Amino acid sequence: MAFGFAQAFRTFGKLALAGAIGASLAAGDVGAEQKTPSPGSAKALFGGVSLPTQGPAQPIGFYAKGCMTGAVALPTDGPTWQAMRLSRNRRWGNPVTIALLERFSQDAAKYAGWPGILVGDIAQPRGGPMASGHASHQIGLDADIWLTPMPARRMTAEEREDLPFTSMLQKNKFLTIDPRVWTESHARLLMLAASYPQVERIFVNPAIKKKMCDTWTGDRTNLGKLRPEYGHDSHFHIRLKCPPGVAGCTPQAPVAAGDGCDKSLAWWFTPAPWAPPKPPKPDAKPPKPPREMMVSDLPKACAAVLDAASVASMQAATYGGPSAAGGPSAANGPSAASALAAAPATDDDDGELPDVGPVPNDKPALQ
Ligand SMILES: [Zn+2]
Repeated sequence: MAFGFAQAFRTFGKLALAGAIGASLAAGDVGAEQKTPSPGSAKALFGGVSLPTQGPAQPIGFYAKGCMTGAVALPTDGPTWQAMRLSRNRRWGNPVTIALLERFSQDAAKYAGWPGILVGDIAQPRGGPMASGHASHQIGLDADIWLTPMPARRMTAEEREDLPFTSMLQKNKFLTIDPRVWTESHARLLMLAASYPQVERIFVNPAIKKKMCDTWTGDRTNLGKLRPEYGHDSHFHIRLKCPPGVAGCTPQAPVAAGDGCDKSLAWWFTPAPWAPPKPPKPDAKPPKPPREMMVSDLPKACAAVLDAASVASMQAATYGGPSAAGGPSAANGPSAASALAAAPATDDDDGELPDVGPVPNDKPALQ
């Protein structure tokens, strides 16, 4: 390894940052994200639409600035998946995304020792920016997967709202995996997700990336797809490539060659990513608050996407057809408490899965 972690830890390990990191990032990030969007803003308009457009599926724009047509919904339940936080109505994606999630869930059960996946946010019915939780997820090619395995029974809608996130990190330690929750199946699950050619990159917490770098003894060809990022300690984020031949989809620069177990990872274990922003100079003008994103800031086609005719119903636009739509019943077995007792509550159970925290300017590589 070009840059020793030991060295990073020697210089940095004593800084008492552990508690501050998660707390301050989560608070700042979520606080800013949860301000109610103004009427007429892109977040308000895209968040106010409950059904996708008719017609062919198309991602429009970039992961963090775009929208989509022709989305389909992941069925709330399958043999190897359950969709979470149903009230958010964010089970929508490009059909290639939904197909991949179903396939991944089956493969996870077959090959990763993972009984099934819990699927978090994918996208809103027409994509676009969300009022809470994410900078990306706007064109139907991003999906969040919990790092908690699916319980053996179907959860009720209430349980899916309330199940707390389980962090893979040790409390009160700096970027350290908790050996009581991390398992080999977690590692296999991530490498399985990275193995699909249509998966472009996967965001994980830097501690998870480091754990993978240190311990993965199998084929490391796809290890470079795992990208360290703020947060992402209780879920990971799968990003698909733009489907071939879709002109309006703006691709992201490919990940750098190699396994990524290098100085770009070591940087996360230095003070730089966690330093508070420099205080403004006393004579400086107060910075303008960031302007809300308007529909006019998105690709032109997104205004028409908002106005386009809806599909007839959620069932009609569910992947696999109306018979797949189903839905969790409120009467299916004992309360979540017993089956899910193994999942300890976490401090960051704020109902959000933030994708990015504040990103310093000197971040070495665009994620
Ligand atoms: Zn995400």
